[in-house]
Amino acid sequence: MIIDCHGHFTTVPGYFRDYRKAQIADFEAGKTSGFSTAPKISDDDLREGLEANQIRLQKERGIDMTLFSPIAGLMGHHHGNEAMSQHWSRTSNDVIHRVSTLYPDRFAPVCQLPQSPGASPRGCIEELERCVNDLGFVACNLNPDPSDGHWTDPPMTDEHWYPLYEKLVELDVPAMIHVSGSCNPNFHGTGAHYINGDTTVFMQLLLSDLFKTFPTLRMVIPHGGGAVPYHWGRYRGLAQDLGRPPLAEALMQNVFFDTCVYHQPGVNLLTEVIPVKNVMFGSEMVGAVRSIDPETGHAFDDTKRYVEALDISDADRHAIFEGNVRRVYPRLDARLKALEPAQ
Ligand SMILES: [Zn+2]
Repeated sequence: MIIDCHGHFTTVPGYFRDYRKAQIADFEAGKTSGFSTAPKISDDDLREGLEANQIRLQKERGIDMTLFSPIAGLMGHHHGNEAMSQHWSRTSNDVIHRVSTLYPDRFAPVCQLPQSPGASPRGCIEELERCVNDLGFVACNLNPDPSDGHWTDPPMTDEHWYPLYEKLVELDVPAMIHVSGSCNPNFHGTGAHYINGDTTVFMQLLLSDLFKTFPTLRMVIPHGGGAVPYHWGRYRGLAQDLGRPPLAEALMQNVFFDTCVYHQPGVNLLTEVIPVKNVMFGSEMVGAVRSIDPETGHAFDDTKRYVEALDISDADRHAIFEGNVRRVYPRLDARLKALEPAQ
């Protein structure tokens, strides 16, 4: 089975995006509570966006299942206040729940969290519990920078985040560390802010004993782990120079990387440097890079090809495509087992 650990519902109808734009405009005009309900997306509109895009590509590329979350760039945690973020997260997660109900054998739901700059992550717990306990979500996306480009909240290893981590551990769901858009013009969203976020959080983890406090907490660092695998010697060396334990011991029971680096040499390097048990197949399609690579004639984000071309054992390839993600996301594993026909 081929499981893509990283997909977003980037093909929502335009009127859903327009609703969010209007919500932000209303807030800026002074409406700070009593937010209006989003227009209901018809089943036909949901199907149309998915079948022409994500499902078509799943079939063309041979991907069986995608972990599916709201559009990362649209989380926009810096907009409005915490109440608006609560409202928008609930709205967005409900759409993902409908997708995973319409296509249970194609999409497993992953939620966004109602974060807000300066607000305690404790405020995310109710929505996380609703998604996981009531709606069958298997994981969440966690934004390390709710200010969307200005990094005004404490590092992810600060006790500020602990109430949420306690709940993640209790529910046994991993968090994908995933920024939203960037409202800082220095940082392009998918080209810089994403990679900065991934790299920044890994370095925070290196400096802390977070996983001593939460030994079963699991974090997925997407986009191939940002700059980390390429600079693996730097991080190993920094750990050593700073008197930190070796990375393999301190972090690699808890931290996982996907394969969203969009070229063969990058995936080769990722799997040469990072233990296979820490790598999970991901494509983030349809998303960050949508075009065809003129050097190969294939889509940049057709990352399955790169994993297939790796010179690794069948067992390792199986781990990257299926085994690791089922281990890291036990609620996905349970969901897949429930889908299997009764023996
Ligand atoms: Zn993403």
